[in-house]
Amino acid sequence: MADPREARAGPRTVTLIRYDEIGLKGRNRRFFEGRLRENVARALDVPPGAVVRERGRLFVHPPEEGAEVDSRPLSRVFGIRSFSQAATIAPDLEAVTEAVLRLADAAAERATASFAMDCRRSTKAFPLTSLELNVRLGRAVQDRHPGLRVDLGRPDVTLHVEVREAAAYVYDSVTPGPGGLPVGSSGRALLLLSGGIDSPVAGWMAMKRGLDVDSVHFHTPPYTGPQARDKAVAIARELAAWGGRPSRIHLVPVTALQQAIARIVPERLWTLSLRRAMVRLAERIAREAGQGALVVGDSLGQVASQTLENMAAVDAAAGLPILRPLVGLDKAEIVDLARRIGTFELSVQPFADCCVLFAPRRPATRTRVEAAQAAERDLPLEDLLSAALAATETLELGTRRRTPAQPSRTTIRAPAPANGSTRTRAMRIPSSSSTVNR
Ligand code: ATP
Ligand code: MG
Repeated sequence: MADPREARAGPRTVTLIRYDEIGLKGRNRRFFEGRLRENVARALDVPPGAVVRERGRLFVHPPEEGAEVDSRPLSRVFGIRSFSQAATIAPDLEAVTEAVLRLADAAAERATASFAMDCRRSTKAFPLTSLELNVRLGRAVQDRHPGLRVDLGRPDVTLHVEVREAAAYVYDSVTPGPGGLPVGSSGRALLLLSGGIDSPVAGWMAMKRGLDVDSVHFHTPPYTGPQARDKAVAIARELAAWGGRPSRIHLVPVTALQQAIARIVPERLWTLSLRRAMVRLAERIAREAGQGALVVGDSLGQVASQTLENMAAVDAAAGLPILRPLVGLDKAEIVDLARRIGTFELSVQPFADCCVLFAPRRPATRTRVEAAQAAERDLPLEDLLSAALAATETLELGTRRRTPAQPSRTTIRAPAPANGSTRTRAMRIPSSSSTVNR
């Protein structure tokens, strides 16, 4: 459906958004597009009505005549293939030529050497074919700027024209989006977020495939200081900026749990037992929130505990699927992604998390489920889990609007209100929502 505003199209600038994968999803298409529209509106801080869907594209209209929307946050919105700031004009040759020449003037002013035309007509109502339009406009540009050479291979600038029924769009740059699926279009999950490099990347990859992700962080005050906690919150906040949707982080104190494990479980199994307790806690939080999976930052074979056997022993403790999106990545690839996501600088802050402080000297690398269960037999697990959940603190992170042009924050500050407030809320999680003899 054409936007009625286009009927009185003047030289306005709109943001044109391309998405591909979601265009293929048959009957779900409307749903996917709806999610993407919501996420775009939130990321750009515009009312949902300003984001208009038209034939496989989204258009963002500025709130008022003459205003321009800062589209940079879109390079962090999953589901977007690319986007452009485009002049919107009447779909007639004269107006199109004028708009193209304006861009050519600007290119000449920047001492651009070569150009190409890329014209598309998607309405037969327009008298010229795409090819004829390319030739006609290319000539007009060269007549005006003889110094600008045509180069179809590697032009310095490409002048794009899209003629649609109600309006034509003219632009000279295409910015890539992150691809993937709109966050919220594949369901919801809970990320086990440590202070390390890997888990934020795992969460990001889950979000990239359309999962709406909340986080849970386990800490051991006073052994882990407030900085470790704030670091996890800062990382979660950075991740939330990619979601375009509000998200939460649960901070679960596991000091007593860890102490009990140290007392009762053989040292070689400490890490594994703690990990099994973590997924149990995470599962209860996830079920309460209606999340269908847990996400962790394990990569196969990276550390002693990340063996197939130990993974199986962890999985046996969880009643929800555990996703491990990093399983196929090398450390260097994970680090590259962490830098791109903006979490790397935060992750390398030197505040140890509970696992680092609790590492056995010789961790078991191949633990059978039965052995883990036997080692935990005398743990008062139900009481420990209930107490940890009762002391859980939950922060609402909001959706922080941050443009990629800004540098990443490298200092940790106490959680600050984002778009909306950060508030602490007690969680009500049934203390015996599942059995613990897994
Ligand atoms: P990361 O870089 O994410 O810390 P890692 O390579 O250090 O991962 P492990 O310490 O074995 O690996 O942790 C494996 C996964 O377990 C983490 O990626 C994370 O998902 C989860 N995890 C570990 N510690 C915590 C914690 N304190 N709070 C929440 N999740 C945790
Ligand atoms: Mg770690």
